[in-house]
Amino acid sequence: MTTRSETRTALDHLLTEIEHRNPAQPEFHQAAHEVLETLAPVLAARPEYAEPGLIERLVEPERQVIFRVPWQDDKGRVHVNRGFRVEFNSALGPYKGGLRFHPSVNLGVIKFLGFEQIFKNALTGLGIGGGKGGSDFDPHGRSDAEVMRFCQSFMTELYRHIGEHTDVPAGDIGVGGREIGYLFGQYRRITNRWEAGVLTGKGAGWGGSLIRPEATGYGNVLFAAAMLRERGEDLEGQTAVVSGSGNVAIYTIEKLTALGANPVTCSDSSGYVVDEKGIDLDLLKQIKEVERGRVDTYAERRGSSARFVPGGSVWDVPADLALPSATQNELDENAAASLVRNGVKAVSEGANMPTTPEAVHLLQRSGVAFGPGKAANAGGVAGSALEMAQNHARTSWTAARVEEELSDIMNNIHTTCHETAERYDAPGDYVTGANIAGFERVADAMLAQGVI
Ligand code: GLU
Repeated sequence: MTTRSETRTALDHLLTEIEHRNPAQPEFHQAAHEVLETLAPVLAARPEYAEPGLIERLVEPERQVIFRVPWQDDKGRVHVNRGFRVEFNSALGPYKGGLRFHPSVNLGVIKFLGFEQIFKNALTGLGIGGGKGGSDFDPHGRSDAEVMRFCQSFMTELYRHIGEHTDVPAGDIGVGGREIGYLFGQYRRITNRWEAGVLTGKGAGWGGSLIRPEATGYGNVLFAAAMLRERGEDLEGQTAVVSGSGNVAIYTIEKLTALGANPVTCSDSSGYVVDEKGIDLDLLKQIKEVERGRVDTYAERRGSSARFVPGGSVWDVPADLALPSATQNELDENAAASLVRNGVKAVSEGANMPTTPEAVHLLQRSGVAFGPGKAANAGGVAGSALEMAQNHARTSWTAARVEEELSDIMNNIHTTCHETAERYDAPGDYVTGANIAGFERVADAMLAQGVI
């Protein structure tokens, strides 16, 4: 029987090896640390998981594709971007995970996202493996025609690696309904197949699922509500700070408002908006989804209740709840200290890895309920899996049915994380609960399927 401290030493060795073998991928190292550091108790308690090679296989993607994406802008100039698809783990089902189009994208970023996705997808309880992709293409300021040409070029390579039973991409930062439409069109044209289940996040009129656009934000609010319930509280009357102003932030704000909370902020890379009366969702949607504009326009049009703060940290705004919904490492230790000073009760991650490790520790030490992204934002990919189910059955469900399924899935994830944390002597620690519960499901499947 190995002790926890022997197991920890072995994991430390492995983490050093991961850093060595994957140089210049700090985000991937961070994600691997975050998971592996919590696994010692389960590896010590269940010797079958300490089998040589299991964790080593888990941290090595099954397949990584990097490709050239040439495209022409409206003036005829040629641009060359880099495309990625990392097919990380298919023990539980076809690779599943979004595509991110953002200038910060590189292999390490896609690997961090793909690694997170393995455990997140496992936590949903549905049959989906983990993968992620994207490009360093920057859609900001590009015309629809440019975005279309880029998407067509991207899919002209990607199509040979994906399929409804193989790998099912979806959206992420910079990839929404418009991009999924262009990508799907090109896939259909090249393959001459109507294969609805090859992509999720499609339009509702052509194979998409109702509530998929809302699912990540709604799911995160449901997770936050479950954490509060555990402490004998609810969302009613709670002030919330939300960062970001994309799909996740918008539907987080919508659900918070619907459940009686008061979301007072949103942000983008230029700064943040505080609106004492609560964010006016119609105005925000008009600016972000229709005009594809910036949040300072919101403050200009909203009137006296709102002000725009250029630069600055949205986490300085006093609130009961914080829902980081922008991007990785947006909430650091200083921000966490500020939230704690202002009496925050819960932090629930809508984005992937938005809270730095130091910030997570500070929040947990201070008794704040902390919902890690792989549990709290799993509603998005769960919504995607429900879209796949509808596609396979050639049917579409009502919004009410999808929302009910989503709500059951989020409550189950919460219960699973909570109970797993208790089982491993870490009551209230959702990070440990999520990592161990996700790991157990994937590890059991990998062990059963042999060394592949
Ligand atoms: N990009 C989302 C995530 O980070 C959704 C992925 C999907 O729907 O496949 O989970």
